Amino acid sequence: MPDFFKSIPHNFSAKDRALIEKALEFATIAHKNQKRKSGEPFVMHPISAAIILGQIFPDTATICGTLLHDITEDTNTTDENLKLEFGDEIASLVDGVTKLGKVRLRNSKDEYYVENLRKMFMAVSKDVRVMLIKLADRLHNMRTISALSKDKQLKIATETLEMYAPIAGRLGIGAWKDELEDLSFKIVDPENYRITADLLEERLAARQKSTRQMQKELASILRMEGIKFQEITGRTKRIYSLYKKLQRYDNDISKIFDKVAMRIITKSTADCYSALGIIHKHFNPLPGRVKDFIATPKPNGYESLHTTVFDSEGRTFEVQIRTDLMHETAERGIAAHWFYEEQGKTDKIRRGANWFKELHAWQEEMANNPEEYLEGLKIDFFKDRIFVLTPKGDVKDLPIGASIIDFAFSVHSDLGYQMLGAKINGKMAKITDSLKQGDVVEVLKSKKAATPSRDWLASAKTSNARAHIRKYLAEHDKGLFQRVRELKLQDFSSRLPGLPTFFRKK
Ligand code: MN
Repeated sequence: MPDFFKSIPHNFSAKDRALIEKALEFATIAHKNQKRKSGEPFVMHPISAAIILGQIFPDTATICGTLLHDITEDTNTTDENLKLEFGDEIASLVDGVTKLGKVRLRNSKDEYYVENLRKMFMAVSKDVRVMLIKLADRLHNMRTISALSKDKQLKIATETLEMYAPIAGRLGIGAWKDELEDLSFKIVDPENYRITADLLEERLAARQKSTRQMQKELASILRMEGIKFQEITGRTKRIYSLYKKLQRYDNDISKIFDKVAMRIITKSTADCYSALGIIHKHFNPLPGRVKDFIATPKPNGYESLHTTVFDSEGRTFEVQIRTDLMHETAERGIAAHWFYEEQGKTDKIRRGANWFKELHAWQEEMANNPEEYLEGLKIDFFKDRIFVLTPKGDVKDLPIGASIIDFAFSVHSDLGYQMLGAKINGKMAKITDSLKQGDVVEVLKSKKAATPSRDWLASAKTSNARAHIRKYLAEHDKGLFQRVRELKLQDFSSRLPGLPTFFRKK
């Protein structure tokens, strides 16, 4: 058994440590006669899941919840027992995980998929820690999946790839998303996994030397120019993410620039921009490949500068530049906030995604009261965001108060322009209706041209939808003016005095 506390790089207070030790002991006794399919004692599973969890989110209640997550389901221990032993907070986390565990994906093609995804997001919005436990549980099950029958492996891996990995991504936990994707892709589609892995390996072997050289060059240039940095590493694209990207680029690996990326970790945001300038001074950038995710972070909060440059031999390299805090956020997502709080570094983070901003502001208020902070994590985390689903289960992240109009434009601008009506959870609705957490929205399209009107603006909350509507109206007005002018000329000609009647239009 791994040494629990050594596996989690965090200093727990004596009180927290005692509570975790109590949960460890409690779980060991409760599961004592159970074995996993692999033959090892069952308790190894909750312990391993709690280590996975603790490594990105070392919160005592959530760690205890993970240690106890299978207890009410698989042993004689009841919810009441847990409440008495560990209090309401931990018992409610375990209860949440047990309920979430009943949500099953049967067949991704059928309605259950969307319905289940909907339940998942409802659960996330209530208490994000329940989802963190569920994800850690799933990651450990995926790591140890080989002990199961082929049928079960396929079922669990499919569910992981379609449901859990996207949720980890949406919560910004890159480290978990990547691992969940690669572990399940290998089982769901072994042939393409192999092909992609081989392709990647071949490329990497060929580039190993140049990558090391690039790393050295970058380091010496930055040092020479006096830019402070913590480290420069080479990162390889993950197999599943490469596979998905290849599909978008005609399976042509030469069109993919970030197979290998150099990652520069700096100490400050200003250093990120200076480093970018210096790199462009020494290496030619590939036009159109500079991306500033610091000024405009991705919706899940990801921040970084990306550029692609040519080395002296004409090979392309993607370079990613970010601070250590941005890096932590990319790996741990929402859980990183907790980490920053502990380190007293919250003042240094700039949050991009709205819900991050919201949390951050709130977090500052709560800086002196961590207990209240965690309490608030339950309610306020997604306070200003809602998750809404397409009939196929794609998740759209919208601000509270968003309407069907916002939703349609977030799916595709054409869908917005041609929208006639919509159904919310299968019932007809007005396109100006606002949406609620977990709604499944189906937009009905007109076969003909666009339909936007000026009063749509009143119901459009997102700048994306508003920009599209305005653009349409401006063009539409122009067209209308043109038609009115033609009409008038026609009208006028028909009334010209003195023209013989047979020239007149009938
Ligand atoms: Mn479990």
